[in-house]
Amino acid sequence: MVEVHKVNGVGPSHEGNVFLIKDEVAVLIDAGRDASAILDNVRGLIDPGEIKLIILTHCHHDHTAAVPALKAATGAKVLIGEGEVCDLGDDVATGSYRYAEDPAEFEIDGTLEEDDVINLGDWALSVIVTPGHSPGSISLYEPRARVLFSGDTLFPSGNIGRTRRSEEAVRDLVRSVERLASLDVLVLYPGHMEPTDDKVNEQIKTSLAFARSIH
Ligand SMILES: [Zn+2]
Repeated sequence: MVEVHKVNGVGPSHEGNVFLIKDEVAVLIDAGRDASAILDNVRGLIDPGEIKLIILTHCHHDHTAAVPALKAATGAKVLIGEGEVCDLGDDVATGSYRYAEDPAEFEIDGTLEEDDVINLGDWALSVIVTPGHSPGSISLYEPRARVLFSGDTLFPSGNIGRTRRSEEAVRDLVRSVERLASLDVLVLYPGHMEPTDDKVNEQIKTSLAFARSIH
């Protein structure tokens, strides 16, 4: 039985969500900011050394600042969308302008592209490239369990990620939300806010209507 646990520290929304997927292979989706809180939460569930991958939905500081510390503590490999790699250091221009501190910089072990599949045992996560919130954002979909990790592309209750407000970024975001709206989703694990299993397809359709309204 695959389990998903939200393992980031509680507190203000300065930290993106971090999810631990416990399957035959254990992985983290995103890395947050507060490594010690994340590791404390992980230790209550598994030995952090069992985490083999840290999969990043995008490069923003609030999702990646803890990468170096988590990588050191777990030995996990770090993967990110290939379109995001050259964006490292570009936080100020994208979504993390509120965070005046140095942008997150970290070494990656590999990149992900459209249709890549990450086998965890029972689950196989499909990579969907969903630019808009950042140029190389990815979402991860598990088609059998109908579970979606949406990063900051969309959030519950009809919310969407912010964009650079350039026409191109908004157009990308609309297209990305359209793609996610074409999936059948039972459980949504977003990059911020709480996970939800309440009529998720309807919530995503509301996100799409909102995205189109700013187009
Ligand atoms: Zn972000």
